[in-house]
Amino acid sequence: MDNREATLQDAQMPHDSHDHPHSLLPPDPALRVKALETILTEKGLIDPAALDAIIETYENRIGPRNGAQVVARAWSDPAFLQALRADATQAVEEMGFAGRQGEHLVAVENTPERHNMVVCTLCSCYPWPLLGIPPSWYKSDAYRARAVREPRRVLAEFGVLLPEDVAVRIWDSTAEMRYLVIPMRPSGTEGWSEAALADLVSRDSMVGTGLAKVPE
Ligand code: FE
Repeated sequence: MDNREATLQDAQMPHDSHDHPHSLLPPDPALRVKALETILTEKGLIDPAALDAIIETYENRIGPRNGAQVVARAWSDPAFLQALRADATQAVEEMGFAGRQGEHLVAVENTPERHNMVVCTLCSCYPWPLLGIPPSWYKSDAYRARAVREPRRVLAEFGVLLPEDVAVRIWDSTAEMRYLVIPMRPSGTEGWSEAALADLVSRDSMVGTGLAKVPE
């Protein structure tokens, strides 16, 4: 290849050049977010503790409480359970839980024979209107890969030890389909109000990495 040909090729393919600005961007969006957070903190425009509090609120308080109400109602109201089985998107919409990242919801029920667990192997799809924003472990490469490959070991790490005869079914979320696990109702809760039942329903129990709390 002579010099003239090399120059011509460079001119025709500017995007392949190594000093093109695009190649200087960090590959991971998380790095860019971290850089922004650092700059804003150094300039005194944000308080990292306040950011953590906001994330904590959406991750653990507001978000999952919506899903817990759905589960408690499914445990208490047979007509609602039927509606949830028939069309979960519509059933939860009638409770006021709708919006972005909540389209095409499917409720998957745990039984004595089958435990359900949700993952997004591609990215981090998650039913936001019911569970809030996904926890960092849900988005991690390790969870996304291992939930499919060795679900029982992952469950054990979350403290969930299932009998050998219980099948584990993994549901892979997508942009089109989100899953809500309906954990099994703990025994000893007969006659409980929906509000009291909802307090037994953790976020993890609705992703399938936990179980409903057993009352004391
Ligand atoms: Fe995803």
